[in-house]
Amino acid sequence: MSSPVITLHDRALGSYLGLAIGDALGATVEFMTPSEIVATHKVHRQILGGGWLRLKPGQVTDDTQMCLALGDAILSAQGWDLPTVANAFVTWMRSRPPDIGNTCRRGIRRYMLDGTLAAPPAEDSAGNGAAMRNLPVALAFAHAPAAFERCSIEQAHVTHNHPFSDAATLTLGHITRILLGGGDKLDCRHCANDLVAKHPQFRFDPWPGRTSGYIVDTTQTVLDAFFGSTSFEECLVNVVNRGGDADTTGALAGQLAGACYGVAGIPERWLKRLDHSVAERIRLQTPGLLALARPARVSTLQPANP
Ligand code: MN
Ligand code: MN
Repeated sequence: MSSPVITLHDRALGSYLGLAIGDALGATVEFMTPSEIVATHKVHRQILGGGWLRLKPGQVTDDTQMCLALGDAILSAQGWDLPTVANAFVTWMRSRPPDIGNTCRRGIRRYMLDGTLAAPPAEDSAGNGAAMRNLPVALAFAHAPAAFERCSIEQAHVTHNHPFSDAATLTLGHITRILLGGGDKLDCRHCANDLVAKHPQFRFDPWPGRTSGYIVDTTQTVLDAFFGSTSFEECLVNVVNRGGDADTTGALAGQLAGACYGVAGIPERWLKRLDHSVAERIRLQTPGLLALARPARVSTLQPANP
């Protein structure tokens, strides 16, 4: 018996909803250690809200909100316009979000003060904040690898300018694109191996055991959980119970697992719990971003300035 075909739209929607669900699930245990999680939840596997942000069940954090801001910017420009992206980040920051990373805040403030669209290179900008919000770029440029890379780096550099952040943002996006195109985990593994070959710091097998917001730690944790699991639920329960930056590892693992297994792979109880207004925005953005990705329109989507 052959397995049912998962369409591009189903993988894209699974990826975006998966990201939001991973964020909402992981936020409950963000900054906890694995033993603190065991003491409180045994195994954390329900979307409960709470956590240090005292969230409502199903509420998401900056990871999902910055994706939605970036997705809105791409849709309102009907393509790539970096000032529109930066302005969307400003609007989001002014909306008093539940959380915001230090490097994101610093970068958005710099843009507000001097209008520059790229942060200067900085040793301390290797957090996971640029990689965690890049999914809309992977969707809009699903069929255009060169434009995907250029626009990913441009949006990343508004706040994060570091070679490790760049490398992880591209790799996690390319793995997502491979999955959207129907590629399998072996194809993804080759892409992850290329990252490790270029930057051995990212070696994730064996998993080094760190779950901080440092992009190297985050990427290793997400890749280990994704390759070490065989379903959406197993992947997400695995990753968030490691604690640390669990909303972000949850979001990125949910992005990959959702693209891999499609919407049908996401447990119903999690889909039902996700904040309804967030789910609706994701369901509206996904087909719009994919429409931009149609191969025939790719040539109109090149960044404006060379
Ligand atoms: Mn967050
Ligand atoms: Mn986080």
